[in-house]
Amino acid sequence: MHDTIAAISTAFGEAAISVLRLSGEHALQVAQRVFKGKRVLEALEPRVQHFGNIVDGEGGVVDSVLLTHFRAPASYTGDDVVEISCHGGILVTRRIFELLLHHGARAAEAGEFTQRAFVNGKMDLTQAEAVMDLIHAQSELALKAATQQLEGRLGKESEHLRADLIELLAHVEAYIDFPDEDIDPDTGAAMQKRLASIQLRVGSLLDTAHHGRILRSGARTVICGEPNVGKSSLLNLLSGFDRAIVSAEAGTTRDTIEEVLHIHGLPFVLVDTAGIREGAGSIEQSGIDRTNREMARADVILEVVDGSLPRDAARRVPGLEDRRGYLLILNKSDLGLHPSWLPDVERGAILLSCENQEGLDPLRAAMRDAVWTGAGAGNSHMVAINARHQACFQRAAEALVHGAAALKRNEAPEFVAVFLREAMEAVGEVTGRVDVEEILGAIFSRFCIGK
Ligand code: GDP
Repeated sequence: MHDTIAAISTAFGEAAISVLRLSGEHALQVAQRVFKGKRVLEALEPRVQHFGNIVDGEGGVVDSVLLTHFRAPASYTGDDVVEISCHGGILVTRRIFELLLHHGARAAEAGEFTQRAFVNGKMDLTQAEAVMDLIHAQSELALKAATQQLEGRLGKESEHLRADLIELLAHVEAYIDFPDEDIDPDTGAAMQKRLASIQLRVGSLLDTAHHGRILRSGARTVICGEPNVGKSSLLNLLSGFDRAIVSAEAGTTRDTIEEVLHIHGLPFVLVDTAGIREGAGSIEQSGIDRTNREMARADVILEVVDGSLPRDAARRVPGLEDRRGYLLILNKSDLGLHPSWLPDVERGAILLSCENQEGLDPLRAAMRDAVWTGAGAGNSHMVAINARHQACFQRAAEALVHGAAALKRNEAPEFVAVFLREAMEAVGEVTGRVDVEEILGAIFSRFCIGK
């Protein structure tokens, strides 16, 4: 078992209750030194809350609390764990925390409880990461993806992949023991088939990276268009309150304003911009540069035009229409649509009236469809890998390409095995199966203290 760590696990501030956690070899002893209940801790039933007082060195009562203890390995971390629920005052919580440290616990590092759970085999790395995703989740789908990852879906898929790679590797390695023998054509063909199916599975996991990024960071959405077409009005309408400044005077929205919206359970980071304006004054130049930068990395581009005016009169941003995630919005439909826009309507342009608040539902649906299509969309069993998993699967995919080519060229089995092993190790890193010491720090330092 590990040394004993302590942390305040709830957010720091005034609240009805706060929770402090201890985990490690001496968790019960440390708690016993400050807790006075009906009986000694060792005699109390685990996983049941017990009432008692926290006392300081002079026997003074600091707070009355509820204490629960969990005996290893049946705890979150896999070590002995004690949880203390006290009154949620900042001073009270702090005082108890200091007492725990005074009596032998060490202040936990960020994510250290979950890291122990991983080290003790209570969860794999993907599940540990899911704990953090779950805490950070701000949209329903992000929460769903985190929950499913926490249940081990991604971990299981990775482990199956790894197991299949190991089996294939074993086959290939069997040939290495007989140096004079090449892989016979039938076996070679069968191996190629298995490898191809593994490649497909790695490929479909990689396809979920886009969804993973959208869920974790939000779909970057840029609103662009000439001054006065209704960009600020649209932002206000989407966000539901007067966030940006709406003005009848052209070019008043100078700063980029970011706002996170949830549409159909997905997070959209909406960036209202200074607009695209040829020959704009120097004050607006920085805004325009920012717009161009944002446009280049956007997942969704909403180009707003005044649909009541002739199409020829609109100054559009050239080359946008072919971009992925591009949506043309014909605003001011309450003033009547100019017929020159009809072909655009047929191609999917969206009629909107910010004035009358009409056309928002089709817009929201189009925004969702712009980022949430392809593999996994609408799938109730959702896997959405993060950037780390993506890098691992990418490495595996590359190694598999080389492995498949080597197999096809009937290369020496040693040669094929090198690539298969590399793929296997890369996949193993996803769940933390291989030596991942250096990546552990990077993952767990992003957690909050007490988790
Ligand atoms: P921006 O410069 O593109 O951000 O445009 P604003 O949102 O500031 O709107 C410019 C003007 O157009 C304001 O007077 C709005 O009230 C008006 N406006 C915006 N949307 C509509 C709409 O759908 N219909 C009508 N009739 N006027 C609108």
